[in-house]
Amino acid sequence: MNDLSTRVRTLNNHPPRSNGAYVLYWVQANRRVDSNHALAWAIELANLNRVPLLVYEGLTCSYPDANDRLHTFVLEGVPEFEADLKRAGIGYLFYLRRTPADANNLVYRLAEKAVALVTDDFPAFNVVVHNGQVPARVEIPYYAVDSSCIVPMNVHEKRAWAAYTIRPKITRELPQWLKPLLFSPPAKTWDDALLPGGVAEFRTTVRRERIAELVASCTINHEIPLSKSYRGGSTEARLRLEDFLASRLSRYSQESGKPSKKATSELSPYLHFGQISALEVALAVRRYAAEHKLIADEFLEELIVRRELAFNFSRWTPENETLRVLPDWCLKTIAKHADDPRPVTYTFEQFRDAQTHDPLWNATQLEMLTEGKIHGYYRMYWGKKIMEWSPTLDEALRTMFRLHSIYALDGRDPNTATGILWCFGLHDRPWTERPIFGQLRYMSYDGMKRKTDIEAYIRQNNSPQGSLL
Ligand SMILES: Cc1cc2nc3c(=O)[nH]c(=O)nc-3n(C[C@H](O)[C@H](O)[C@H](O)COP(=O)(O)OP(=O)(O)OC[C@H]3O[C@@H](n4cnc5c(N)ncnc54)[C@H](O)[C@@H]3O)c2cc1C
Repeated sequence: MNDLSTRVRTLNNHPPRSNGAYVLYWVQANRRVDSNHALAWAIELANLNRVPLLVYEGLTCSYPDANDRLHTFVLEGVPEFEADLKRAGIGYLFYLRRTPADANNLVYRLAEKAVALVTDDFPAFNVVVHNGQVPARVEIPYYAVDSSCIVPMNVHEKRAWAAYTIRPKITRELPQWLKPLLFSPPAKTWDDALLPGGVAEFRTTVRRERIAELVASCTINHEIPLSKSYRGGSTEARLRLEDFLASRLSRYSQESGKPSKKATSELSPYLHFGQISALEVALAVRRYAAEHKLIADEFLEELIVRRELAFNFSRWTPENETLRVLPDWCLKTIAKHADDPRPVTYTFEQFRDAQTHDPLWNATQLEMLTEGKIHGYYRMYWGKKIMEWSPTLDEALRTMFRLHSIYALDGRDPNTATGILWCFGLHDRPWTERPIFGQLRYMSYDGMKRKTDIEAYIRQNNSPQGSLL
């Protein structure tokens, strides 16, 4: 078995179309050319069948909570993705579906002339739905390829219990997978004349200066502002990676738990939208660490073990926005404390608008509202306090997923489900019993004050000081 085929799941039983004009790669997660195993697999198929390769990417107005922030981030990556593909002789069709009345069947129309269809294997959001439904509706092979994880999801045969159970296998497998992905461009160059009749008119040309106008033309929520500092695209991702290597990696192990120090990579939006690969990041970090005699183990633990634990969880637990998927010990302790009095509660709107009594919590929510993510250390505090201040833990869970879905540039990801459910005990262990939380881990304002510079973080997020009850 070669390296690529381990990453592939064939999701139907159709033979290739013998007179097909091209191989179709439908990009749903990995919006990049470099270190893209799905693209590499599609090129292999194209060369095997002596046809060119067409990449199709769609952005619809109809995904849940579609809004200006998310749309803009995706669109900002399109021009350079197109240019990179063109340089490699690969065709690209991008379609912005502006209103619900617009065509919603381009994949099927393109599949009618294709030899085979390749797509991303990504265990979250609409990709799970598409990869569940589309294979039965096309008459060609449907291949889902994992280019999100460094150690392919397919090597894990079941849901892992926690980081300590998946880490040994990842450590064992890693040397085989943590290496550059090399591939040549397809032998046959793409020609737009190969597009099925009438499809070319759906192409949306995206230029940087036109993005605001394109977004404004879509029937989506226009009330969510763009992130203050995250701009989309692979170049932006690489600039952040370079900045991380040059000025943060050496501080990561000491300061990644101190949010005001800004020692983390801030790459999660780019990893989520596939504008950079975990493989590229890990290789760059390892190389830089070796050259500069740094230890990068803490960072690689997050990027590989923790992140791939999340992908493992979502792969084996697809419908995971519910407490029902938690281990028994969590369910028991949650049930035991379900009726505990909640001295302070807030509505969804109060949480959304950062209107609690806690200035630190409000600052974390302001970071979400303005930037589109929250620093990892305070994100745990953010979740724990929503649990403490919601009428029920079910409502707390809904609030967290909802806020991520609307505001988080790295939301709708396997890490979203795992991060949120971690607050409810997933991949964690029992702690000392206490009200509301039972044996679930608790986090306090005083603990945050002791360990981190709360005032500096509050200032950075322009949050009013507020008043603790
Ligand atoms: C309640 C809650 C919700 C979360 N929601 C998300 C989410 O929607 N999307 C998301 O990507 N992460 C989420 N996380 C995990 C973590 O907070 C973020 O991945 C991290 O803060 C991203 O910032 P960074 O890129 O600077 O991380 P860095 O510290 O620089 O880490 C590099 C990469 O490693 C991965 N990583 C880091 N920490 C974790 C972790 N604990 N678990 C899994 N992978 C990790 C991420 O891909 C991250 O980009 C959540 C955590 C919690 C507690």
